[in-house]
Amino acid sequence: MNNIFQRHCHSNLPIAVKGDGIYLYDKLGKAYLDASGGAAVSCLGHSHPDVRAALHRQIDQLAYAHTGFFNTDNALELAEKLTQAAPGNLNHVYFVSGGSEAIESALKLARQYFVEKGESQRTQFVSRKQSYHGNTLGALAVGGNELRRAPFAPLLMPTEHISACFAYHNKLESESYFDYGQRTANELETRLLEMGPDTVIAFIAEPVVGATAGAVTAEEGYFKRIREICDQYGVLLILDEVMCGMGRTGTLFAHEQEDIHADIVTIAKGLGAGYQPIGAMIATSEIHNTISQGSGFFQHGHTYMGHATAMAGSLAVLNAFEKEALLPRVQEAGDILQTRLSERFTDHPFVGDIRGRGLFRAVELIADKDTKRPFSTASNLHTQIKERAMDLGLICYPMSGTIDGKNGHHILLAPPFIISNTQIDELTEKLFESVDSVTQSLFKEGMY
Ligand code: PMP
Repeated sequence: MNNIFQRHCHSNLPIAVKGDGIYLYDKLGKAYLDASGGAAVSCLGHSHPDVRAALHRQIDQLAYAHTGFFNTDNALELAEKLTQAAPGNLNHVYFVSGGSEAIESALKLARQYFVEKGESQRTQFVSRKQSYHGNTLGALAVGGNELRRAPFAPLLMPTEHISACFAYHNKLESESYFDYGQRTANELETRLLEMGPDTVIAFIAEPVVGATAGAVTAEEGYFKRIREICDQYGVLLILDEVMCGMGRTGTLFAHEQEDIHADIVTIAKGLGAGYQPIGAMIATSEIHNTISQGSGFFQHGHTYMGHATAMAGSLAVLNAFEKEALLPRVQEAGDILQTRLSERFTDHPFVGDIRGRGLFRAVELIADKDTKRPFSTASNLHTQIKERAMDLGLICYPMSGTIDGKNGHHILLAPPFIISNTQIDELTEKLFESVDSVTQSLFKEGMY
């Protein structure tokens, strides 16, 4: 028994004491290959020399200065780097301390933008089922993870949820992938017309879905159609890249690969690579200028925004991406990982789909391959796999999401960008052993 209020109240976790490359070590000296970077965070591994040096330097000089009084050179340089790289007109960065804060900031900025434009009748958001945007009340309201929402439903602001673009579960056999993507995107138009399009502030989506469905990419053309619909009805497009952004899919911004522009993008996780808590929201000049020429003040703020140490760390992270040419390596290593996973898991009786982009991959577990029926909630499959993997010295991210109201299970993989090919083999073998032993014993016990 300890005094930490743990999320899983009864779990007895090992004590982490050291990180080295892609491995973490506990107090007993046991090594764990970090195949998920925690929750898709540690993209540079756990001991990157340049990031550590930058943090040491910064703390020695100045740990923190409130952004109400000062900017820092690192914050200015980081903002410039991000806006130079971002597609379209995303020219203004608002730094916060994590993903949920970035989402809250984005939702509030979008609302204030319309208030200042004289369109205060816009009060609603549209988002997607099987999405995750964070755990604070606003972020949870736009999220579509039914299990996480359930206890808080009466407290969540009303939000409309349309279908996710999730071909493995929802594409009809008779339609092409492209047609499926268009049909799903068109749900947005239908819903906007039902709601009254001029009452809607924004549509929010993850370009590649992370926690709730497991590395689900949209079909080609889907996001282009979404952008067209948003433009037609004057609705903002907010892209949540908290998990899939910052190089995870092989480009700095995941939506670069969809060839579209966003009005607001949120990032976090890989931006700080775990060395410091950080998140950000990036908005277009149109949004920024409307507020700066209107009230001149965004009615929002958090104490630790633009934290000087976090700025120094993140700048070093982005510099390391460039110096070590890591993003092309993400694409190459991602292809190798997909191939290795496919070789090992395709014939497994309880693996339905192996998917993703770059070093953002998932293996979906199903009880019946023909019907795609998920394992029962009672199986507690994700927790069992997590524990078995940790026994074997592997950190992966088994999650339970919801598929058509039923509990679905997948394992999310988001290894550090510095993973070697040999380490990809080690990851795959340990993952196979974890999945196989747990699913086979559940099968024997009839718990599937
Ligand atoms: N958006 C997405 C897409 C996420 O994956 C997450 C975290 N898993 C969040 C928002 C919330 O981020 P945080 O946990 O840092 O608040």
